[in-house]
Amino acid sequence: MTRIAFIGLGNMGGGMAANLAKAGHDVRAFDLSADALDRAKAAGCLPAVSAAEAADGAEAIVTMLPAGTHVEAVYADLFAANVAPSTLLLDCSTIDVATAKRVAAAAHAKGLTAVDAPVSGGIGAANAGTLTFMVGGSAEAFERARVILAAMGKAVIHAGANGTGQAAKIANNMLLGATMVATCEAFLLAEKLGLDPQTFYDISSVASGQSWSMTSYCPVPGVGPDTPADHDYRGGFATALMLKDLKLAAAAAGDTGADTPMGAKAAELYQRFADDGQSGLDFSAIIRMLRG
Ligand code: NAD
Repeated sequence: MTRIAFIGLGNMGGGMAANLAKAGHDVRAFDLSADALDRAKAAGCLPAVSAAEAADGAEAIVTMLPAGTHVEAVYADLFAANVAPSTLLLDCSTIDVATAKRVAAAAHAKGLTAVDAPVSGGIGAANAGTLTFMVGGSAEAFERARVILAAMGKAVIHAGANGTGQAAKIANNMLLGATMVATCEAFLLAEKLGLDPQTFYDISSVASGQSWSMTSYCPVPGVGPDTPADHDYRGGFATALMLKDLKLAAAAAGDTGADTPMGAKAAELYQRFADDGQSGLDFSAIIRMLRG
């Protein structure tokens, strides 16, 4: 059993903290939201009144926060609270590579160990403990992190040095955003050409157009497995979060000089969809905008 502080108990963090408690860890939880804290308490975590109180005496501190600014603010509180030098910091939020590297360097300067460990899988996987973690940090830090992350996921992969977990996440989600738009377009074109969506799915899901967006997250209601499309595009992975990740990818492409025209087009389309007031809907709902 490890004493773990968990900070950020939202859609993702709530289920992740619950799975750590279920695995027998001593979880001290903190969130700015009282409702989120109540849910964590019901799931077996001990609520704290601040990040610093949750971190007091912890061997590991997991953060699952909206963006880089939140991670920097919480880390500043932790550094001011003088957490023990051997403490392992695991940031599972999706944030920009530069901030991930900066907070890790600041943690190392304090004698702490830090990894970036963003996730793929969404709320269902967070609740079920079947996330995929992509981890940036030293080999020693990865070995320590793996034991904790394994209680929340089905795959824990070492990407390389600090920041590479975020690099993998951002590149992966740029691919996801672009393939979702392309999958929606393909269904709409097939429909205009007179094909039944189920027939097109049956063919394309075993042909070269196959992708995760098609077979695991089909954007057309009533076709393929149960997805947010079958629930009026509620739940799932919000358009606002996909847009955030596409913007992180665009910024990273700008910083590195990578040419990513498909990623840029996906960002433009998701921006238009969000501007139309649809940022709370699952990202596969973009098929509605493309339908016109
Ligand atoms: P969320 O908004 O539901 O949860 C974030 C939580 O952080 C909230 O409960 C909020 O109150 C809390 N918080 C904010 N600032 C805080 C602070 N200073 N101290 C303590 N708590 C604070 O977001 P989410 O959907 O759980 O996503 C979290 C992260 O995971 C994001 O970076 C997101 O991009 C990433 N992610 C989300 C999904 C998804 O499907 N939702 C999938 C993969 C990755």
